[in-house]
Amino acid sequence: MADVLKKVPVREQDPKVRATNFEEVCYGYNKEEAMEEASRCIGCKNAKCVQGCPVSIDIPGFISKVKTGEFEEAYKIIGKSSALPAVCGRVCPQESQCEGKCIRGLKGEPVSIGKLERFVADYALENDIKPEKADSTNGHKVAVIGSGPAGLTCAGDLAKMGYEVTVFEALHELGGVLVYGIPEFRLPKQKVVAKEIDKVKELGVKFETNVVIGKSTTIDQLIEDEGFEAVFIGSGAGLPKFMGIPGENANGVFSANEYLTRNNLMKAFDESYDTPIAAGTKVAVIGGGNVAMDAARTALRLGADVHIVYRRSEEELPARVEEVHHAKEEGVVFNLLTNPTEILVDENGYVKGMKCVKMELGEPDASGRRRPVVVEGSEFEMELDTVIMSLGTSPNPLISSTTEGLEVNKWKCIVADETNGQTTKEGVYAGGDAVTGAATVILAMGAGKAGAQGIHEYLSNK
Ligand SMILES: Cc1cc2nc3c(=O)[nH]c(=O)nc-3n(C[C@H](O)[C@H](O)[C@H](O)COP(=O)(O)OP(=O)(O)OC[C@H]3O[C@@H](n4cnc5c(N)ncnc54)[C@H](O)[C@@H]3O)c2cc1C
Ligand code: SF4
Repeated sequence: MADVLKKVPVREQDPKVRATNFEEVCYGYNKEEAMEEASRCIGCKNAKCVQGCPVSIDIPGFISKVKTGEFEEAYKIIGKSSALPAVCGRVCPQESQCEGKCIRGLKGEPVSIGKLERFVADYALENDIKPEKADSTNGHKVAVIGSGPAGLTCAGDLAKMGYEVTVFEALHELGGVLVYGIPEFRLPKQKVVAKEIDKVKELGVKFETNVVIGKSTTIDQLIEDEGFEAVFIGSGAGLPKFMGIPGENANGVFSANEYLTRNNLMKAFDESYDTPIAAGTKVAVIGGGNVAMDAARTALRLGADVHIVYRRSEEELPARVEEVHHAKEEGVVFNLLTNPTEILVDENGYVKGMKCVKMELGEPDASGRRRPVVVEGSEFEMELDTVIMSLGTSPNPLISSTTEGLEVNKWKCIVADETNGQTTKEGVYAGGDAVTGAATVILAMGAGKAGAQGIHEYLSNK
């Protein structure tokens, strides 16, 4: 008899093997495992897990269907709230959302909601279960900028309501961070992301790639010349931040975004592609978020000895617990309470090392986390050939600087009402990282949903 206080364990690739390949780390549940895990859910009436879900999925509802083996029904329940469940089941920080609130977690481990969501979504992909589409279109044209989770969700929801939606994407591939940022070993591109996007296409959404709004055309032109009655901006936050320390311009210093884009989108890890990448032999990744873990685990798979350098302690690491755990299992070394002060450069302009100081935690700062303070006399040097900066990103100002009347705040984030996405420009809505700065997939999806509803109300009352 299985221990009901514990999650049904999920099968994963062996850490030693997976550290050398780009295949998916986690295999997910099979039918029997999913049904057994679902039977741990006690179907709370006032389900706390739903309160923890930013898009309010009917979690006890879908889990009750998994319990009885009605997987298609389970998918339909999730589909009412989430357009990308196979993605969310893999990358959402469940420990701080639904699972963090699950009543089972008070005495034992919470129900493995994320892995159950993933199982149901994968079942739907494998069995080609189609989302329900609108019977006919209502003749209103809406433009969506960006094909990340915010744009895809907004486009899908509007199409379901009967709108004629066109998504304009700057890159040659659809998916935003899901394709260029998060690596294959966490989120397979063809098996998962492309198939979820196909489901949005099946709803009738049109996609135009290689269109950079603000360069190829502008928002005003979309409205005035191309007949779009409303626009949703889901252009993300793709502009990397740097530390501003000496040596940061040296050869061998990357932003995590560039490093990951070369690998994920341009397949540098695959020898049949021409994309160059400085794989490095001794790599430091600066930062402690999901992006830092992804860059570190990618560098490891390219053969390097990899160190995470983070100025706070393990408790404050912003990355998902599962990613930190996987990174450690694979052999990434964590240099915590450590801060770089200078990149050391050789006579040819290449990275040869990094000066650092040790830190200790002082009083809490504005973020509520304890502020790291330098330990006097603690300077030391690390020998390195590659440094990957993963310190966060902000929105690219291209759209805001080419759109009259669109207000941004001091971080260049678009000012928008969080309940309906309305910006300071009439008919223009926004959501996701372009509004909040770098956040999460599920928050971007929630903002896409709110934006679709905002646009629907606007056009219905026009
Ligand atoms: C490496 C990495 C790992 C992450 N890991 C996780 C994780 O594990 N869990 C999690 O929840 N979140 C994670 N995140 C964060 C999450 O991916 C983002 O919060 C989310 O993708 C934001 O969605 P979005 O739709 O707002 O923007 P994006 O996904 O950034 O999509 C924006 C799209 O707009 C396009 N675009 C930009 N400008 C223009 C323009 N001018 N014209 C046309 N198109 C334009 C971009 O090319 C892009 O495709 C991670 C992020 C990164 C970078
Ligand atoms: S809180 Fe946990 S046990 Fe209760 S309904 Fe949600 S998943 Fe099931």
